[in-house]
Amino acid sequence: MQKADIIVVGSGVGGLEVALTMAKEGMRVIVLERQHQAGGCMQSFSRGKVMFDNALHCVGGLDEKGQLYDAFSNLGLIHLPWKRLDMCCYDEVHISGKVFSIPQGMMQYTNALKTYFPHQEEGLDAWHEILTSTDEEWLKQTSAWETLNSLFTDSLLIQVLSAPAMFKMELRKDTLPLFSLVHGTTPYIESAWRLQGDGNSLVNYLIHQIRSYGSEVITDKEVTQFNVKDGHIVSATCSDGSIYEGNIFVSNTHPSVTCNMLEEKALKPVFRKRIVTLPNTHGIFTLHLQMRHEALRYFNHNKYVIKSTDCWDAAVDNDLKVSGIMLSARVPANGEHVVNLDILTPMKWETVEKFAKSSMRRRPKAYKDIKNIITEQCLDIAEEAIPGLRKMVLKSWSSTPLTYFNHNHTPQGSAFGFRKDYAHPLNTILSPKTPIPNLFMTGHNLMLHGMHGVTVTAAHTAIEINKKITQIKDL
Ligand SMILES: Cc1cc2nc3c(=O)[nH]c(=O)nc-3n(C[C@H](O)[C@H](O)[C@H](O)COP(=O)(O)OP(=O)(O)OC[C@H]3O[C@@H](n4cnc5c(N)ncnc54)[C@H](O)[C@@H]3O)c2cc1C
Repeated sequence: MQKADIIVVGSGVGGLEVALTMAKEGMRVIVLERQHQAGGCMQSFSRGKVMFDNALHCVGGLDEKGQLYDAFSNLGLIHLPWKRLDMCCYDEVHISGKVFSIPQGMMQYTNALKTYFPHQEEGLDAWHEILTSTDEEWLKQTSAWETLNSLFTDSLLIQVLSAPAMFKMELRKDTLPLFSLVHGTTPYIESAWRLQGDGNSLVNYLIHQIRSYGSEVITDKEVTQFNVKDGHIVSATCSDGSIYEGNIFVSNTHPSVTCNMLEEKALKPVFRKRIVTLPNTHGIFTLHLQMRHEALRYFNHNKYVIKSTDCWDAAVDNDLKVSGIMLSARVPANGEHVVNLDILTPMKWETVEKFAKSSMRRRPKAYKDIKNIITEQCLDIAEEAIPGLRKMVLKSWSSTPLTYFNHNHTPQGSAFGFRKDYAHPLNTILSPKTPIPNLFMTGHNLMLHGMHGVTVTAAHTAIEINKKITQIKDL
């Protein structure tokens, strides 16, 4: 039996950031991770000698006035080798036979869009105002889709504004809060960055610091049960029988997975029902390409190619139709050519659900056929932005929502956690606090997703933990 002040279950970026914050404040923290490798969605993997990333394609808001600067400085992450994307074009949107270059900087962004859409000036000024009001509470209760339609009459402009968001969140007309769209857009306009190196370097740097404060991150430790006594959690049991005791527990796992770790009587049925019935956002299909030697020059921006007239509600489903893709190249370690390139497209769980029980090592042919169909479409669409791309590819691998379902135990392989709903903000934006006084949650299911979202959420979780610690001390 091991003991710590705080036990964190799950080593996604959210779990690691809470662990580091509390370790820096003098707590002894133990992070328990079920996988062999830490990092959750942010982990990287190697194929041959090439490293690929699952998730870390782009991060926003790292310049000195940016929304993540202070948090990243406190976590030591600001010193990692970040490369700023091109100032004059961090996002390149291909749509309806036209190409739109989106620059960094709020004024530059708005002015560029006014040049493309001079007849929408008034709406663009109002959009600028909204994008710079990230802290406004009303954004949570307002529909993103209805707002765009109330500001703009040109549907192409709405699609240009929405195209990058199609790969950063679930674009659903009936639910997406303006809050999610604004938080998934503004930080990148302020400043957009890519890590030089792989996501593992970020994860490993967090772990290195956690350990330097005398705390621990232990992998291959799947927590199966929280043990409750007198309404408080006293310990966590792992699948190998080991038990970890603590005063405070933090779950970085999906909240419905967290509920399942608690015996029936530990939680009020109404809370459990609310959590396990919340819908999840869709997943992502990623095509990882290893490029031939010096075949493609590095491009320092993201490219988006939209084939559908509407990139809202356009994730791949059972009809296996790809509506649009994002292309993101890793910064080359040496030279000026791309070694690995990722192509992403949103994908619904229902497309792969029937294979959920298959072994990761031996997937059925039907699953591989689906992956091949999507792969071919992704490459066809990508050639619009990079002519001749197919011939530049040496090898390819792909992942689907099933990959995240199996590796991270994410229900439905969801890429962005619970679906937030502007009509029900109080039900779908969750507090880090739970009905069990010494159990807290963190991660992208609570409020906001992505590196930006989990970092903001980790800070909220740490504040709630500190309030609890003060309460305990005062008793
Ligand atoms: C394909 C894809 C591309 C993305 N691209 C970007 C991007 O470019 N930029 C960006 O900012 N964001 C991106 N995101 C989103 C971002 O990766 C996530 O929002 C973020 O990493 C989620 O972190 P988290 O801490 O909430 O949880 P997760 O990363 O889901 O981590 C949860 C951890 O808990 C562990 N766990 C689960 N159950 C147990 C258990 N019983 N016991 C112990 N451990 C357990 C899991 O193994 C996992 O390690 C992308 C996501 C995807 C899927």
